[in-house]
Parts: sequence; structure tokens; C-alpha cells
Amino acid sequence: MKTVLTINAGSSSLKFAAYDVENDLTVVMDGQIENIGKKARLIVDHGDNRKIKNLGAIDHHGAMAAVLKVLRKRLAGRVIHAVGHRIVHGGVNFSAPQILTPDVIAELETYIPFAPLHQPHNLNCVQAAIASFPGAIQIGCFDTAFHRDHPWVNDTFALPRRFYDEGVRRYGFHGLSYDYITSVLERDYPELHDKKVVIAHLGNGASMCAIRQGQSVGSTMGFSALDGLPMGTRCGQIDPGVLLYLMDQKQLSATEITNILYKESGMLGLSGISGDMRTLQASDAPEAAQALDYYTFRVAREIGAMSAVLGGIDALVFCGGIGENSAHIRARATQNLGYLGIKLNLNANAWHEREISDGPTRVFVIPTDEERVIARAAKAHIAT
Ligand code: ADP
Repeated sequence: MKTVLTINAGSSSLKFAAYDVENDLTVVMDGQIENIGKKARLIVDHGDNRKIKNLGAIDHHGAMAAVLKVLRKRLAGRVIHAVGHRIVHGGVNFSAPQILTPDVIAELETYIPFAPLHQPHNLNCVQAAIASFPGAIQIGCFDTAFHRDHPWVNDTFALPRRFYDEGVRRYGFHGLSYDYITSVLERDYPELHDKKVVIAHLGNGASMCAIRQGQSVGSTMGFSALDGLPMGTRCGQIDPGVLLYLMDQKQLSATEITNILYKESGMLGLSGISGDMRTLQASDAPEAAQALDYYTFRVAREIGAMSAVLGGIDALVFCGGIGENSAHIRARATQNLGYLGIKLNLNANAWHEREISDGPTRVFVIPTDEERVIARAAKAHIAT
């Protein structure tokens, strides 16, 4: 049976899945290791069987080794034809999935300084998969690729041009999620193809994308995965003057500032309680309420910004863990957006129905599936 694997290494999780190529990419098994670096936990779903195992304080290398062990054991007898990898940064050159030849991998290594918390883990997983499945094609799928053709005004910062030329650009991320949602819209709502669509990917990481004719024309994330919306532990948009103050006046090093911006800010920093939206929604603390106020305010603000990029808005799609599951956040973030034709049907919203709008702008809740985009790319490469 032809099988493809997908590997998706985030900063603290490692997701994996195996798909049956001859059976419309049915999931054979999937799972993840969460909480890498702390009390890591392996979760494997295989048919009706779910296995959970505590792994202790393993790092990314240990996590990948544990995943490979599970895959080899559970997939014995299947031939792995391709392994698709989520790779956060494809730089300026890669606007589509690539076979990970030594030359391509060498180019991807040059992007490590652009995404130091993600790219090294992604590339380590590629090397481990090459060693474990030497007969399989390795395919890289890039979070930046979906945005590569966005207009120049959304690609640049107003810095001296030499920085743009050396790669200091607005890349945009969450491209695999936007690719998946766009494919669902094209399939189920072809009438939206020429319309103005905003997708809000609200997960632990969060961004928004303005889409026209299936293409990204603007996004809230820029050079790094920090810009735009506030996230679980990442700050979102910030005045660069704050960073100068932290360096000059507080004498903080680049490593300390990186840690603050990526790991101590966002909902965790604002609430002082947690970066997890469920925990904050359940909390009575005024700081949790303020964090939610800030979050919903910024989501509303960025929907406005993405609508401005498009010159209007015909449809808004929520996805990601928060976008798919929190009726509360969806309702609060859109409650003042009547000026954009956005009005929720609160009943449909409470039931997480697919279409939740009552106004002229259509609003959808569509579960995203980044792994499937990777699996499709892997399948496309073995078919040729
Ligand atoms: P990642 O970016 O790591 O893939 P997810 O897309 O899984 O993250 O989103 C995780 C976020 O979704 C967490 O903040 C979690 O609390 C939130 N979330 C999940 N389910 C719910 C829910 N029912 N209500 C509110 N938030 C939720």
C-alpha cells in the first residue's frame, strides 16, 4: 500500500500523520508530541485506538526519534513513498513545494537566521526522515510559499532598500492553513472565487490573510512569526521603539528580548495566567478579562486592515483552535463590524455551524488541515 507521511515540527510540538495514497489520502494513523522541552507527551491515534505516553523532558531530537520509532513499528509492512515536511521558511525563491535535494536543503539552511526557533527543528526532522526512510522522496512545504506573489507594498518595510535586497521582507506565514481553507472555498463556494475574502487563522500562533482569486494579497504576519495579532505567548504588532528601549535602557540582550517576545508575551504576558485561550475564558481574574479585551480588539482591528487591503470584504473565515472552537471570541471580535456588513447569527455561532452570518458579508467556521496540504503535495510528487 502506497503511504505518505507528514511531519510538522512546531516550536513545542511535533505532529505526524500517515496517509493511504490509493484511498483518497485516508488517514492511516496520526498523532503528536506536545510540550517538547517540558513534560512531553506522545499521543497516537491509530484506527479506534488511542495511546498516550509521557516522555519526560525530551528535546526536538528526542521527539523526532520517538515519532520515528512509533511510525516504524505501526507502519511495518507499508512502503513509505514520500515524507512531506512543514518548513516554516521558504525564503524568496520557493513559492511551491520542493523536493528536498541537498542543494535545496543547503538553501533552506541559509534561512535559519530568519526563523531561528522553527527552521532548525524543521531541517533536523528532514535529516532524521532521510536516515529513517532512505527510499522515500522528501518534500518541503513552506509556510511562506502561499504569500510569495503578494504585491510589493505588502512585501516590504520602509527601510533602506539594501535590507529588502538581503531578504528583510514581509514573508507572511500560516500559508499551509490558508492553502487548505482556500481549497475548501474553491470546492464548496466557487462563487467566492472573485470576491474579497479574509481568513483568520486563530490558533496558538495567529495571523490573517486577505485573499483574492485564491491568492494572498496581504497578511498580518511579516518578517517573523511575531507580527500582527497577539498570540498565546507572542506579542503581535509592536512599536520597534519598544525594542530599542529594551536594548538601550534595560540592557537586555537579543536572546533575552527574543525570549520575551516569543515566549513571555501575548495572552500569557497580558494575563500573567496562561497563554491558553480556554484557561483565560474560564478565569475570573480581571487580568484575564483584559487580555481577552485586547485580543478581540486586535482581531477586529486586523479584520478592518485586511478589508482595507482588499477594498472591502465579502467573506470572513475563522479557523485554528480558537477560530474553530471559541464562539465567544468570534462573537466579541465581530460585534462592532456592522460597518463591514458583518453580523453573526448568534445561534449558528454558538453551535459552531459552517456558516454563521446573518448580514451581507458571509462568515464561515472551517476547520483547517495543514497536514492534508502537505500530504497532497507529497502525493503529487510520487505520482509523477
Ligand atoms: P497551534 O497553533 O499550536 O496548532 P491550535 O490551532 O490547536 O494551536 O490552537 C490552540 C488554541 O486554541 C489554544 O489557545 C486553545 O486554548 C484554543 N482552544 C481550543 N479549543 C478551544 C475552545 N473550545 N474554546 C476556546 N479556545 C479553544
